[in-house]
Amino acid sequence: MGRLTPWLAPPALAIGLLVAGADSAAAFDGFGDLEADSTYGDAVRFEVGLRGDTPDRIELLIRTPGGDGAFVVPVEPSGATATYVWDTSTDYLTPNTLVTYRWRATDGEAVRQSEEGRIRYEDDRPGLDWQSAQLGEATVHWYGGAEAQARRFGDLTAVGVERAEELLGSELAGPVDVFVYDSQEDFFGALGPGAREWTGAAAYSEIRTIFMWLGGGSAEYLEVAMIHEVTHIVFHDATDNPFHEPARWLNEGIATWSETREASGERTIVESEARDGGLFAFEAITEQFPIGERGGRLSYAQGTTMVDLIIAAHGPDAIARMAAAYRDGASDAEALEAGTGVDADELYAEYFGAFGVDAPTPIEPEPLAPSNVDRPAVGRVDSGGVDPGAEPGAEPPDEAAPGEEPVGSGSEPVLVGGLAVALGLAGTAAYLMSRRAARRWDA
Ligand SMILES: [Zn+2]
Repeated sequence: MGRLTPWLAPPALAIGLLVAGADSAAAFDGFGDLEADSTYGDAVRFEVGLRGDTPDRIELLIRTPGGDGAFVVPVEPSGATATYVWDTSTDYLTPNTLVTYRWRATDGEAVRQSEEGRIRYEDDRPGLDWQSAQLGEATVHWYGGAEAQARRFGDLTAVGVERAEELLGSELAGPVDVFVYDSQEDFFGALGPGAREWTGAAAYSEIRTIFMWLGGGSAEYLEVAMIHEVTHIVFHDATDNPFHEPARWLNEGIATWSETREASGERTIVESEARDGGLFAFEAITEQFPIGERGGRLSYAQGTTMVDLIIAAHGPDAIARMAAAYRDGASDAEALEAGTGVDADELYAEYFGAFGVDAPTPIEPEPLAPSNVDRPAVGRVDSGGVDPGAEPGAEPPDEAAPGEEPVGSGSEPVLVGGLAVALGLAGTAAYLMSRRAARRWDA
């Protein structure tokens, strides 16, 4: 069987030559220089020269850090050039994102890609006369009169990175940029439309960039915030894997715990909520935290106190073992067990036990009551009108689904459910009326 390879090689080579021959015979003769420039909050423009005749198809392949694949845009060439304008006024792109791209031409059977181009999407809004310096573990950028604060932030990145590397058992894997904004308008203009209005500092780990706002809080707040944000970047490097993001409560818990390396303030919050409002299951704060102030604060506090419990009961090395497990592709539960030797559910139970409460359990939704709206029988719909309640095959209104309580039993869930259905129908009617009004406006 060892002879198979030599026998297969010549035909493969011949095919390669045929393709190359077809390519050289085609009229399109390759790409010229790549050019790109950008204006923050407006657009990124890409342009490339085309040699020879226009190919059958031209596409631009755009990549941003953390993306799973390239964003492919078909581009119509104009003469000897192809141009694409990415409208970032509607398609928000975080400043300091390093965009990489290639042009691809398809001409008959032949496909050619250009070399890779790169453009950094800089925040070049008027009035932001950026200055920068390599300070601590970061390149710190500031404008106006913020140099003294910027230098302090730079020093703190060194403190934060050192602590986080020790805790997570791995090293910072690349450069970090810190942008210091003076005004709230400039700061939120950088974070884009999705930012919560209480944000005072933010880390975008995929692009290794931290945004600080000098008005975000007291000098003391800003100092711990700097430690917190840079910890997020080390955590990202320590847990980086192609499968999933580690639990959010753990990421925020480690960043918050690292601010002061203890959790007394957060413990007070959890104790008070355990008495009054109840705690969250950890599965409920794995992806996102609630938007509201109470839910957000409690999520951070639970994450921080859980990290504190893990370190107290299993030693600080447990955190590094968890990070290593994530790098190897562990799920959240597997990473927790790899770090502590304790099954995740048992660990959660221990946590809630420490605060004197039972682990929260899922709340089952009340069954939706069957409709009690009078509807014409199927097949007797007046022509010309659309009756949303009488589609063919609709259930008779008084037939309860298995497991549901019948209408009229007087039990509370049915009444509540009935009310919800009634309100829902009223809402739909109001919506439809407003749509019709809107249509009239259009006409
Ligand atoms: Zn955070």
